[in-house]
Amino acid sequence: MTKVTVAKGDGIGPEIMDATLEIILAAGAKIDIEEIEVGEKVYLAGNTSGISNESWDIIRRNKIFLKAPITTPQGGGYKSLNVTTRKFLGLYSNVRPCMSLHPFVDTKHPVMDIVIVRENEEDLYAGIEHQQTDEVVQCLKLISRPGCEKIIRYAFEYAKQQNRKKVTCFTKDNIMKQTDGLFHQVFDEIAKEYPKIENEHWIIDIGAAKMADTPEAFDVLVMPNLYGDVLSDIAAQITGSVGLAGSANIGEECSMFEAIHGSAPRRAGQNVANPSGLLQGAIMMLNHIGQTDVAEKVQNAWLKTLEDGTHTYDIFKEGTSKQKVGTKEFAQAVIANLGHKPSTLKPVSYANSAALNLPKYIRKPAAKKELVGVDIFVHWPQTNPDELAAKMKKIELEGIHLSMITNRGIKVWPDGFKETFCTDHWRCRFKPNESTTMSKMDIAQLLKNAIEKDIDTIKTENLYTFDDKAGYSLGQGQ
Ligand code: NAD
Repeated sequence: MTKVTVAKGDGIGPEIMDATLEIILAAGAKIDIEEIEVGEKVYLAGNTSGISNESWDIIRRNKIFLKAPITTPQGGGYKSLNVTTRKFLGLYSNVRPCMSLHPFVDTKHPVMDIVIVRENEEDLYAGIEHQQTDEVVQCLKLISRPGCEKIIRYAFEYAKQQNRKKVTCFTKDNIMKQTDGLFHQVFDEIAKEYPKIENEHWIIDIGAAKMADTPEAFDVLVMPNLYGDVLSDIAAQITGSVGLAGSANIGEECSMFEAIHGSAPRRAGQNVANPSGLLQGAIMMLNHIGQTDVAEKVQNAWLKTLEDGTHTYDIFKEGTSKQKVGTKEFAQAVIANLGHKPSTLKPVSYANSAALNLPKYIRKPAAKKELVGVDIFVHWPQTNPDELAAKMKKIELEGIHLSMITNRGIKVWPDGFKETFCTDHWRCRFKPNESTTMSKMDIAQLLKNAIEKDIDTIKTENLYTFDDKAGYSLGQGQ
C-alpha cells in the first residue's frame, strides 16, 4: 500500500477525480487515500495561498500527491497553488506526454507522440516583479545551473528509459544569451553523456511553429518553464483535446500528478467532463510508485475505450465516435475494459517505467569572479539621451567612466539614433579604465554622487566576469 494525498479540487475536479479513483482502484491500485481540501473554498475563507498548514503537513508526509484542477479566484492577490506547490516541494520536472489517438480521436496530426519535459521551478515563474518608474515594470528571469542540469538530465534519462530516440531543446538564446544561453550550454554538455540518443536545439519560435505543424518531427522536448507551459497546452490541444493529457511533477522527495487542463467551471456538476487528463496523471503516478502492472492495465483499457468510440463531448465526432457518454459512464466503460487491450492502437508495456533515479546535483568549484563595472538604472522622465549622459558624467569617479546608456536594452548613447523611442527607464553603464580596478566602494560612491546630484537611481546590477568571461550582455547595437 502506498499512501497518496488526494485533492478533489474545484469545478469539474470532484467528478473527474471520483472517476479516476474508481478506475484505478478497480484495476487493483494498492493505494491508501488521504484527502485534503485545497483551492477555491480555502482561498475564499481568507487563506490567500489556497492551502492550510495541516494540508502541507499531509502532502509532505505522504510525498505522493494526486491533485484535481483548482480554481484560482481572479484578483484579490490569490497566489496560484499549482505554482506554489511545485516550487515549495522542489518539483523541478514537469513531464507531459501528448499522443495522437488517430483514427479514434479527431486530430490533424495522426502520428504525433511527443513528451514535453518542462522546467518547473524557475525562469519567469520566480514571480519577482517590480514597478521601477512611472512607465516601466520588470520581471526577473532566473535560470540556474542546477535547474538546467536537473531538468535536462531528467529529459535524457527519461528518453533512455522509454527507449526514445531524440531529445530536442527549445530556447531563445539568440536573444537571451545569458539565461537561455545557459540552458542551451548545459543541454550541449549533458547531451554528450548520452551518445546513443540524438540531440538537437531549435530556437523556440520556429521550433514551436514546427511542433504545431509537424509534431512527428519531435520525440522528447525539453525547455524552460514558460515555453514549456505554452507549448504543452498547444501540444495537448492538437492531439484532439486539452482534456486528454496528464502531467507528472517530479521532485527529489515528493511528486504531484494532475491533468494539464484547468477546472473548466462552466462544465462543472454536469457529468460531461472528460476524466482522461487526470487519469493519465494517475497512470504516471502508478508507474512512479512502482505499480507499473496496474498502470499498464488501466492505460490499455483506456486506449480500448477510446478505440471503441466511447467518447465524452470534447472528443465526440459524428462518424468517428460511436457513443457520447458522460464522465461516470466513461469511467464505467474503462472499468469494463480492464484486462483488454486495444487492437488498432498500440498496447502499452510499462515494465520499464518506474521512477527515475537521478544523481544529486553537485556544485562545481567557484569560478574566478571579478567586478568589471556597474549598470545604474535611472528613472528620468525626459527624452534626450545626450542630456542624461551629461548629468551622469558628473558622477564619474577617477578612472571609472560612463561607457553607455541604453533604453529598454537598446543603446541610445553614445551615437544613438534619434528615431529610437525612449521611455523613462534608463541603464547607465560605468566601467573602469584598463589601468583601474573597481570595488563595491566605487559603486557606493557613484550612488552617493547620484543622490547629491538629484539623480533618481532605481537599482544597480554589478557587472562581473567569471573566469575572464563576461557575465553580462552588451547593449543592443553596441
Ligand atoms: P480550462 O482548462 O479549465 O478550460 C479550457 C477549455 O477546455 C474549456 O472550454 C473547458 O470546457 C475545456 N476543458 C478543460 N478540461 C476539460 C475536460 N476535462 N473535459 C472537457 N473539456 C475540458 O482553462 P480555463 O478556463 O482557462 O481555466 C479555468 C480555471 O482553471 C481557472 O480558475 C484557472 O485558474 C484554473 N486552472 C487550474 C489549473 C490546475 O489546477 N492545474 C490549470 C489551469 C487552469
